Amino acid sequence: MDLKGRTAIVTGSNSGIGLGIATELAKAGADVVINSFTDSAEDHALAARLSRDHGVTVRYLSADMSRGDACRALVERAGGCDILVNNAGIQHVAPVEDFPADKWDQILAINLSSAFHTTAAALPGMRARGWGRIVNIASAHGLTASPFKSAYIAAKHGVVGLSKTVALETAGQGITCNAICPGYVLTPLVEAQIPDQMKVHGMDRDTVIREVMLQRQPSRQFATVEQIGGTVLYLCSPHADQVTGTTISVDGGWTAL
Ligand code: NAD
Repeated sequence: MDLKGRTAIVTGSNSGIGLGIATELAKAGADVVINSFTDSAEDHALAARLSRDHGVTVRYLSADMSRGDACRALVERAGGCDILVNNAGIQHVAPVEDFPADKWDQILAINLSSAFHTTAAALPGMRARGWGRIVNIASAHGLTASPFKSAYIAAKHGVVGLSKTVALETAGQGITCNAICPGYVLTPLVEAQIPDQMKVHGMDRDTVIREVMLQRQPSRQFATVEQIGGTVLYLCSPHADQVTGTTISVDGGWTAL
């Protein structure tokens, strides 16, 4: 896979899945813009390390993806992009009647509206160059539901709908738009929950992962950030030129149930 000469923006990529995707893109030769809203010394050091490790240009650009103007400005500051990965996302868990309205608005803004704004800003350049890949990181919760996650699930279903619409508006123009729907992925955030879950359930690590955390994932194995990154690479490859407007589940069989 050779993405030399391509520029990618990955939103929300100073940790977890976004960082895994940015790393796979850099390994494949793409110049990458990584992003979060923190603008810390660690964020800039991370970009420098990725750049050094993979011999590509990696820039860190801070932007708060809850703000539409900041999303559009991110694409402008990057000088446009060939590959846009909308990954930034947050979660909040509460019954719908107790769900804080400000949390609802924030989740919809970061998990859904940001993809609308970055896509709108990136498309003119992609059209001018006759090539583009838009990959939206949805979730198994873009296809199914669970209780107490109304905003997240509404946003992720919205991301799937947005992906289909953008695919139709760009069909035949060298541009594809798809959504990846991960199941449970082992990120530092998830890793950090394991000791608490072990304590609460009085189980060893393997048992709590298999019986509690991955109860809905038939493989009883986490997906990895490298596997999500690899799926992005596939969507950027010529093999996927006719793959557009669809979802790819990386969920160990969750949505087959
Ligand atoms: P994470 O918390 O490690 O990463 C989230 C990223 O989003 C971080 O880089 C964070 O800095 C960034 N972010 C949050 N708010 C932001 C804001 N306002 N502006 C800019 N950046 C912001 O979580 P993750 O598990 O790597 O999740 C990444 C994506 O994958 C999310 O969209 C999530 O919904 C999705 N996802 C995760 C899983 C899983 O099991 N981990 C499963 C399915 C889907």
